Amino acid sequence: MAIQLKSREQIEKMRVAGRVVRQVLETVREHCKPGVTTLELDELAPPIIEKAGGKGLFKNYPGPTPFPSNLCISVNEQVVHGIGGSRVIEDGDIVSVDCGVSVDGWCGDSATTIMVGKVASDTRRLCEVTQHVLQIAIDNIRPGRRWSQIARLMQNYAESQGMGVVRDYVGHGIGDTMHQDPKIPNFVSPELLRHDITLREGLVMAVEPMCNLGTRDVRTLADQWTVVTNDGKPSAHYEHTLAVTQTGCEILTDGN
Ligand code: MG
Ligand code: MG
Repeated sequence: MAIQLKSREQIEKMRVAGRVVRQVLETVREHCKPGVTTLELDELAPPIIEKAGGKGLFKNYPGPTPFPSNLCISVNEQVVHGIGGSRVIEDGDIVSVDCGVSVDGWCGDSATTIMVGKVASDTRRLCEVTQHVLQIAIDNIRPGRRWSQIARLMQNYAESQGMGVVRDYVGHGIGDTMHQDPKIPNFVSPELLRHDITLREGLVMAVEPMCNLGTRDVRTLADQWTVVTNDGKPSAHYEHTLAVTQTGCEILTDGN
């Protein structure tokens, strides 16, 4: 595993990309109202990214078929990798939006789940718990800690709240490419314990908990991208690009 530590200058470049990501996500939030299609939301991204001199990182991302959308837009039971299309947003939906951008060769990656109108209380709770899981990571990252310690805190909290922690997708290192070593899981597994990571200043990672209201099990639809929960219950996803500092971490995708 080749973990690339980033210099202060490189981290500041990633923050520039992170600001563009934030701008896209906030614009989608403003427009995410009943009656809008996920394609209309997806089309908000390119003008913002181009105006900032950036490049969207998701469109044509290699996979079984090149990813066809600018953003990942995943509604309700969709976990991740949803494709903008004709689905119409309804009152009470939750909409996970994931955006990756590079500017001047350096990347930012962030996701949020938007609650539209009157969301059922258990679904609202799912979103709050998942967002808090990300906050637990932010509050506990510091040099010298092992990632498994952080992952255990995240998993224990989510499961103590009755949520399913998705096992099939994990966070990742990030830098001059979007997906780098190490893998950053939201749970503790034998694999993580075998390849545990000691956090060091300059490590930059995209931490991205995905929690389900029901089963943690997921499957991929026939479009070969959209991941949904096996039981059809809702799923939430929050992600920030985080740089480990001397004393903790800095969020590079909060718009600051
Ligand atoms: Mg992402
Ligand atoms: Mg990511």
